Amino acid sequence: MKFSTHAQSLQASYIREILSAASQPEMISMAGGLPAASLLPVELVRVACASLADNRQLFQYGNSRGYQPLLETLERWQPESTQPWLICNGSQQALDLIARALLEPGDHVVAEVPAYLGALQAFQLSGAALLPLLSSAAGPDLNQLEHYFKTTAVKLFYAVPDFHNPTGRVWSAETRIAVAGLCRHYGVTLIEDSPYRQLRFSGAQLSTVSELYPEQTIRLISFSKTGFPGLRVGAMSGPAEFIALAERIKQATDLHTGIPQQVIIDRLLNHPEYPKHLVQLRQGYHSRYQHLSAELHRQLGAQIEFDPVEGGMFIWLSLKGKSGAQVAARALAHKLAVVPGSAFYEQEAAPEDCHIRLNFSNTDTTLVEEAITRLAKSL
Ligand code: PMP
Repeated sequence: MKFSTHAQSLQASYIREILSAASQPEMISMAGGLPAASLLPVELVRVACASLADNRQLFQYGNSRGYQPLLETLERWQPESTQPWLICNGSQQALDLIARALLEPGDHVVAEVPAYLGALQAFQLSGAALLPLLSSAAGPDLNQLEHYFKTTAVKLFYAVPDFHNPTGRVWSAETRIAVAGLCRHYGVTLIEDSPYRQLRFSGAQLSTVSELYPEQTIRLISFSKTGFPGLRVGAMSGPAEFIALAERIKQATDLHTGIPQQVIIDRLLNHPEYPKHLVQLRQGYHSRYQHLSAELHRQLGAQIEFDPVEGGMFIWLSLKGKSGAQVAARALAHKLAVVPGSAFYEQEAAPEDCHIRLNFSNTDTTLVEEAITRLAKSL
């Protein structure tokens, strides 16, 4: 059997591999980007799940665009936006549909690095060439971004402006305005991937970049972080012409997202206690973050550094010159799973990175002290 060149070039996700190691006995995992099992809103959907079997229609084929009541719920959520939605199998499928709809082999995609590997993989499968955009606590390097836009025919700019994976960073209001301005000036399509946006611990929500540049932004949302990752429900909105094309591609890919899981998400979003669930989730993750942050400072002191985060699920821990890959490998031997920074770069372009990503949403607080003791041994 001869595999396609693009498929062969797809690198295995280190995170998927480490997640299987993470299930070994006595392993403590800070590797995945999973919600806390205890905070999954199962009670809010118990009745909805039990009554699914009463409606046979929900087990028939449905529309590629999505389950109509869920589409209407999403429209009610964003009354200011007239852009249509397409329901997908997680936001991951939205990335795949975007790549199929917009990318030709050799097209250039700018992505902030380090980056969410699943997005890079989706673009690579279409044969796109990635242009890495450096970013820091101050945001993406706007000079480099403009340089790319000026000198290369950039097709897409992929960004996670809210609680980025893996760095946890948030773009300032000024950065959002500047990026929207640059994309508009150079006519570049922006993909605003925002699965963590709702997980803000406190403070005011900043405007989405898609609000500032609606004519050419595709916005991705996910119910994996606020609802249930196992149901695989996410959505994307964007210009009507693009959504219509993505719908046709989705039809060719999987016909439609399963209806029962869309019903469950719709009932969750419309449950009177859903806003309370979001508050509990934010508070729960905030206190987990504070606990981990305090333990890192207490046990590791000057050996590490990290920027405080205001939400999301991750701490991007600088090991101050020590190799993230070596520390992660030693941590595994001490039965602690963490993801090395190099896992968030394209394989050929992976630098000798001195970070590890620590997840705080899914780590049992009673295990955090022991986890950081293991990390201290690994350092
Ligand atoms: N985008 C980012 C930035 C992510 O971190 C993830 C998953 N961790 C996804 C997209 C995909 O999420 P899902 O398919 O579960 O919606």
